[in-house]
Amino acid sequence: MSGTDGTDDPTLELLPIDISAYRNGNTGIDYVHSFNSGQPGPNVLINALTHGNEVCGAHALGVLFEDDIRPTRGSLTLSFANVDAYHSFDTDNPTASRFVDEDFNRLWSDEILDGPRQSSELTRAREIRGVVAAADYLLDLHSMQLPCPALMLAGTAPKGRRLALAMGVPEHVVTDPGHAAGPRMRDYGPFAEAEPAQTALLIECGQHWADSSRRVAIQAVFHYLDALGIIDGADASPYLVPTPPEQRLIEVVGPITIQTDAFSFAQSYTGLEVIPKAGTLIGHDGPQPIVTPHDDCILVMPTHKPRKGQTAVRLGRFVD
Ligand SMILES: [Zn+2]
Repeated sequence: MSGTDGTDDPTLELLPIDISAYRNGNTGIDYVHSFNSGQPGPNVLINALTHGNEVCGAHALGVLFEDDIRPTRGSLTLSFANVDAYHSFDTDNPTASRFVDEDFNRLWSDEILDGPRQSSELTRAREIRGVVAAADYLLDLHSMQLPCPALMLAGTAPKGRRLALAMGVPEHVVTDPGHAAGPRMRDYGPFAEAEPAQTALLIECGQHWADSSRRVAIQAVFHYLDALGIIDGADASPYLVPTPPEQRLIEVVGPITIQTDAFSFAQSYTGLEVIPKAGTLIGHDGPQPIVTPHDDCILVMPTHKPRKGQTAVRLGRFVD
């Protein structure tokens, strides 16, 4: 199934890079490389291309390879996830390369991964699940359909927001429970639980093909490695944001999951709009009006392609 109806008309400032040089990794899994410092420390994972059309992550990993970034303690693993989708990128229909058969980021439970179902994405997820399971820290690099400032999706456990705040970027940190349609990589196993130390973050770096998303992704990976203290400060410093923003926490109560084949928004929202009054109409799901549940309600990542069973938008509030 294609990921798009072909009606997009995006400006393609940022295009895929050639990642063929990164195919032969040292882990026995194509497009997965792991560097071990030989010193005690955490297993740190950075993942790109969970969605094949979200090219900024490939650019950021490319910089880590070009700069020969190596951990000074623990290990650093770099993975390109949905490479088959990425390699289907077509400038005439760039959204279609989001996935081959299904959303790679709704498959991350043992029940699904151990189940009988087959798809291009399940095959790849089964290949790399051991790498994800072995990670003490995960940063998963994404981008968005609509132009919106970067968002860090930190999950609901306090450990996620602690790491996001330790990174210092981006400005907006969202605590959210994920999607009804299926668990994300960042929700896999202990990442989603409150007590275990394993911590995962998902960053939405900006619009898929905006050049600024590349810069945000590169800054994010270096802030992450710097916050975890696993690379030389001199390696990170050229890429760190000189004056990090004052970060703001957005608490998402729950996603609005689409129930009908006729969902529409009342306006063309792009994300981070703050709706002042509770009860304001923001859309319809079939005949059902969708209204904001509280004052100063923030719209987080509204979809521009509503589909039944998927998330339409997440509603949140600033927590200061
Ligand atoms: Zn994504």
